[in-house]
Amino acid sequence: MKTPHDTDRLEEELARLERLSRSLDTTPGERETRTRAVQAYAASYLDAQDSAPAYTRSPDLSAGLLETPISESGAGLDVALDLLDRFVDNEGLNTTSGRFTGYIPGGGVYEAALGDYLAAVSNRYAGVFFASPGAVRMENQLVRWMAGIIGFPDTAGGYLSAGGSLANLTAIVTARDVHGIEAEAVPRAVVYLSDHAHHCVDKALRVAGLGRAVLRRVPVDEAWRMDARALEKAIEDDLAAGLTPWLIVASAGTTNTGSVDPLGAIADVAERHGLWFHVDAAYGGFFVLTETGKERLRGIRRAHSVVMDPHKTLFLPYGTGALIVRDGALIRQSHLSDASYMQDARASDGEWSPAHMSPELTKHFRGLRMWLPLQVHGVAPFRHALDEKLLLARWAWQELGRSDRFEVGPEPDLSVVTFRLKGTDEANRRLLEAVHADGRVFFSSTVIDGRFTLRLAIVSFRSHLEDIELTLRILEELAAAIPPG
Ligand SMILES: *Cc1c(COP(=O)(O)O)cnc(C)c1O
Repeated sequence: MKTPHDTDRLEEELARLERLSRSLDTTPGERETRTRAVQAYAASYLDAQDSAPAYTRSPDLSAGLLETPISESGAGLDVALDLLDRFVDNEGLNTTSGRFTGYIPGGGVYEAALGDYLAAVSNRYAGVFFASPGAVRMENQLVRWMAGIIGFPDTAGGYLSAGGSLANLTAIVTARDVHGIEAEAVPRAVVYLSDHAHHCVDKALRVAGLGRAVLRRVPVDEAWRMDARALEKAIEDDLAAGLTPWLIVASAGTTNTGSVDPLGAIADVAERHGLWFHVDAAYGGFFVLTETGKERLRGIRRAHSVVMDPHKTLFLPYGTGALIVRDGALIRQSHLSDASYMQDARASDGEWSPAHMSPELTKHFRGLRMWLPLQVHGVAPFRHALDEKLLLARWAWQELGRSDRFEVGPEPDLSVVTFRLKGTDEANRRLLEAVHADGRVFFSSTVIDGRFTLRLAIVSFRSHLEDIELTLRILEELAAAIPPG
């Protein structure tokens, strides 16, 4: 490159670079064409969902992407959309399908995509209040709404995270600091959780410098809910041994089985012994919108902190979790930090900034993808969809229980149904393999009490009776071909 050394040369060079870089600022005409092309792509994707497979196994297919490398001149939008269609959007898990009941589905309500689009267009800075009072107010309004539905008081605060894992991490860091667990105290600090707690809790403990803390796995009852009496006994034993019990992690419900730990009884224990009571409701939290769910999650209001995943039971696309802490100020004690270059951005004028309540600073304006669907649809259809999932799970559990081929786990607390083909683990593994090879529907498996166990997690807003009927029909059909082993 030439080195401009006088003003004329400098300005000439600037004019040249401006001409060359202007194409980044898409013209209204190009905008319109491109938006239309993307819209048409999205429409054809969504229109195909009624009959699209829930799973397509072709792990090598996407290597085709690499044949169009990132280049100086770019391939153009049409080529890019074609690549997306051929190598990304039609293989692997189809989490937008109503026949996808693997892991914990979510689905992706369309208005959330529109919210993401608008958030990306305006690029409001949702990290600090000064930068976008409206974006921060909106996110805090959503946090307050969630605090309200779980019955937290006005002191509650929290933030919208990228997902449940980060929200659990933030909760654990907050609890760690409130309980003053410094490095030298870690090996004597005891955390209580059941075997069914989500593995992100272990990860969060390690990331939070608590990897050497004592993990006390509390026994569960016959429906895989934490046994509150065993919990109390474990705490008493640990105290007698000179250890420091400080944190209970309950699940509402568990990822494995959807079981909800007895939150009220655990809250009693936590209160009696002065422990931090954290409820991981990443999967089950939004069921409090329903009467049944409210009953099942009774006692959640007594937690110190709660994690909920709008990208699960509020049906948003991936990328939105939430942490809500009963005394919101405590999160800031752990996460408030400052720097000279942030001096203009300190004013908060009554609203807390997400950056002061999380490990993040600059972040996606995620509030808009949650706020827009709630404003467009209202809460009511979300509540009805959640009630529908609870009933679909009960229906599937009853049907599977009636079948000669299958045995079912306990009646679901929420919307996860566990079952097994009568026979060996190997027979169950083969059945799952056959379901995956078929691809019309998808569900996943787990191991419970050492046994290979199948599970349907009925969570997508697109899952209705016909989808679950088809799932059971396919199960019967494929099971008929499996020798009991
Ligand atoms: C999904 C899940 C998590 C992890 O959340 P991500 O959003 O996947 O990071 C944690 N706990 C429970 C109970 C979950 O179901």
